[in-house]
Amino acid sequence: MSEGTALENPRKAVVFDLDDTLYCERDYVRSGYRAVAASMAADPAAAEAVAAWMWRRFCEGRGERMFNAAAERFGLPDDPATIAGWVACYRDHAPILQPHPDAVAVLDALRGRVRLGLLSDGFLPAQSIKLDALGLRGYFDAIVFTEAMGRDCWKPSAAGFERIAAELGVPHACCAYVGDNPAKDFVAPNALGWLTIQWRRDGQVHADKPAAAGGAAQIVVRDAAALLAALDLGVCR
Ligand SMILES: [Mg+2]
Repeated sequence: MSEGTALENPRKAVVFDLDDTLYCERDYVRSGYRAVAASMAADPAAAEAVAAWMWRRFCEGRGERMFNAAAERFGLPDDPATIAGWVACYRDHAPILQPHPDAVAVLDALRGRVRLGLLSDGFLPAQSIKLDALGLRGYFDAIVFTEAMGRDCWKPSAAGFERIAAELGVPHACCAYVGDNPAKDFVAPNALGWLTIQWRRDGQVHADKPAAAGGAAQIVVRDAAALLAALDLGVCR
């Protein structure tokens, strides 16, 4: 959206992760379970019961093979084609999502000052559908969904970071990445010389994972003010 406007720092870029950085990933999971449950169950009340069961299981840390588990629990077919259909339903569903208000405040504060990018792993079209549901697409001068480049380009690969820096026209030393997941978000941008910032919030799905080798964020923040202060001080030093 800042394309064509006079940027305060046109050679400086801030790139954001999507899931659990700009919105609550758990909201998407819950929304997806509701969509799948509606296709599993015969009526709305039964669907709500199935969705609630899956959500409780997810909250207990047992999100793996969820649809197989639901099939077993509710006596549904669990052949591969049926499971694949539910997975597709989950990934293709139109979620009702809201961005974190303070993330929007950060984007508003940065817009017009620096180039803005979005770099996200995850399946397509799910990631693109999420971005539109959040209403945030217009903020970004460049968007890279690594899935479109090939599965081997998902983080921690550096490929997506190389591409978005080139699309933004900003040298690596003047780029920052804001993400949530220490297991994969910061390895490549650290190696490329970016500033890396982990935005921690309560309830994030991946925040407590151990950092990958060389993958700890350089700065950890817990609110928008700290993030903006870190970006002012740290990018393009
Ligand atoms: Mg994330």
